[in-house]
Amino acid sequence: MVGRGRGAAKEAQVDMEDLFSKTQIEDMRVSLLGWYGLNRRELPWRLAEDDIEKRTYRVWVSEVMLQQTRVQTVIDYFNRWILKWPTLHHLSQASLEEVNEMWAGLGYYRRARFLLEGAKMIVAEGGVFPKTVTSLLKVRGIGEYTAGAIASIAFKEVVPVVDGNVVRVIARLKAISANPKDSLTVKRFWELAAQLVDPFEPGDFNQGLMELGATVCTPTNPSCSSCPVSDHCRALSISRSDSSLLVTDYPMKGVKIKQRHDFSAVCVLEIVKDEDMSDIHLSDREFILVKRPDEGLLAGLWEFPSVLLDGEANLVTRRKMVDQYLRNNFGLDIRKTCKVVFREHAGEFVHIFSHIRLKIYAELLVVHLKGGMKDEFRKQEREALHWKSVDSNVIPSMGLTSSVKKLLLTDILKFWAVGHCMD
Ligand code: SF4
Repeated sequence: MVGRGRGAAKEAQVDMEDLFSKTQIEDMRVSLLGWYGLNRRELPWRLAEDDIEKRTYRVWVSEVMLQQTRVQTVIDYFNRWILKWPTLHHLSQASLEEVNEMWAGLGYYRRARFLLEGAKMIVAEGGVFPKTVTSLLKVRGIGEYTAGAIASIAFKEVVPVVDGNVVRVIARLKAISANPKDSLTVKRFWELAAQLVDPFEPGDFNQGLMELGATVCTPTNPSCSSCPVSDHCRALSISRSDSSLLVTDYPMKGVKIKQRHDFSAVCVLEIVKDEDMSDIHLSDREFILVKRPDEGLLAGLWEFPSVLLDGEANLVTRRKMVDQYLRNNFGLDIRKTCKVVFREHAGEFVHIFSHIRLKIYAELLVVHLKGGMKDEFRKQEREALHWKSVDSNVIPSMGLTSSVKKLLLTDILKFWAVGHCMD
């Protein structure tokens, strides 16, 4: 329930079972399609494309990119992606690393991996896109939303699509104040969207509904006076008769998941050929990067060596843990096998993931490998699959986690370590 006193109490009486009437449905279909025809934004994935496979591929890539990401951000990523992998077949030959590099900055990297795995799967099974929601759902990484979008937009299957924009529009049209994340309410939104979808132009209708939510029925500032379906909007009607209630009270704001607080000590580890700092040349410097596991948070991306801490920790404790980590994972003993050329706390900052608040303590550690250690280290590097030493110039072209990018911008690193390659 929306907690706004009188208005919220009134909403308890709204019948969750009621559907749109036949007249409402017909009127809204005509109004929305007409509005969409005149107001649709020209976006690269909407450009005319005669080849059905290419068209479907573009819809798929764009819909996946648009999940959790703003249209303006997606445009550039989409154009670069299509330039590099213009068809499903091109994408199916890419590596996870290339895909992650292309995706870097968009977040939720699982989406990129699913696109790649889905492309490989479709190509392995003949290279033709499945055309219905039922068959699309069998493709790795394609869920109900993406399947509905592809099937309706590319193949005109009469199925609904429900994203955050559609939830908002329908919640307002029907004045549904129940928690939109609740599974019963979610089911209800899909049912109502299925009722509305136009049987002749399902793709345009679905895009129109999403576009309406994105551009008119916005979260905080809806333009009800220019809304093509305002005649059927219950939230608008209620707000006109009850000044304590606003259309923006719908849908109920999601219940926030409690964030986990994590702490990490990151070591920007640089290996230099010369132990005399004044003699170090840019070409003689390498950084150690570690690949994250292929599953889970930020899967497959590269980052500097890091250790998870139990909580806030002082410099001495952090160094102790980092040294132990370097010994166990790279065979580097900074007292015995390396000479520390430079070691400095580089700063601390907070990086927010959807459900984790990660506090990062960063340190720059520059070492020179002692005599026999050099060969041993190179041997270990050749055998390792999850880490490598790279020239500083190579770093920007790798698929990096966004916290690494943030880290590279800290003053000390900009100045000392990699500033010359991150401009
Ligand atoms: Fe949204 Fe206003 Fe249109 Fe209702 S009338 S659907 S609140 S923009």
